[in-house]
Amino acid sequence: MPTPPTPQADRPAPSTSAASPAAANPAASLSLFDPAGPLSAPAAGEAGDPVLLLPKLQLPYTLSRSRRRTIGFSVSAQGLRVTAPRWVPLADIEGVLSTKTDWIWRKWQEVQVREQRLAALHGVWREGAEVPYLGEPLRLRRSLGGSSAWTEASDAGPAGLALPVAEGADDHAWRQALARWLQAQARRHFRPRLDHFAERAGLPAPALRLSSARTRWGSASARGVISLNWRLMHLAPALIDYVIAHEVAHLHEMNHSPRFWAAVAALMPDYDGHRRALRDVVVPPL
Ligand SMILES: [Zn+2]
Repeated sequence: MPTPPTPQADRPAPSTSAASPAAANPAASLSLFDPAGPLSAPAAGEAGDPVLLLPKLQLPYTLSRSRRRTIGFSVSAQGLRVTAPRWVPLADIEGVLSTKTDWIWRKWQEVQVREQRLAALHGVWREGAEVPYLGEPLRLRRSLGGSSAWTEASDAGPAGLALPVAEGADDHAWRQALARWLQAQARRHFRPRLDHFAERAGLPAPALRLSSARTRWGSASARGVISLNWRLMHLAPALIDYVIAHEVAHLHEMNHSPRFWAAVAALMPDYDGHRRALRDVVVPPL
């Protein structure tokens, strides 16, 4: 089974690349976060880096020369990275960049919003904290009994989840209790959806493995086992369905060829919006 070069970083590294869409990833698995790729150049912003003047922002960028034949650029939290062939003069690179400032500005803003959302999700594990669950906010509180309890959303506020943690429980204990609860929900939620898509694909019900990967939503093995990340439970049901349909389609096509995408479309005709939405997803660092 092909395995993609996914970053093993503890922390997601969101990045948007103009030159390499995520769909080009040649493997039977779905990246949880767009990999930023190895930084061969010094981090943007160091003295001596060129600077791109955007209408509202001066964005330093790192320029690396490579054997590639086109100019490529990507925007991440580290800034703008430009890769260009050795023979292209700086003035030409600047000329290309100046035609892309709208795109770069938009991506830079997206990265900032994402970073802020991610920062907001850090260190929130306590009574009253909110986490996304099936795309909706869920408020945590402490269960007084030994088990978890659910309260429906109402006009008074979001749905509530009482978790069995000790009084004065620390961040780690809250995390553990929440992760355990999400894993239990994941098993219950994934199985029927997996059966549904497998049946549509004309396949027997595949074996299901729950994964904890940091960098991957799901994968399909050549032996027909589907792995799904329990962190998917943070996402709206339609996005979870897309990931499951994606992996079931891999049981037919272990690649990302046009035939593969046709198989996904057969299972989920409106998959493309979900595929895009999945790229912008930020999940709590549990
Ligand atoms: Zn895939």
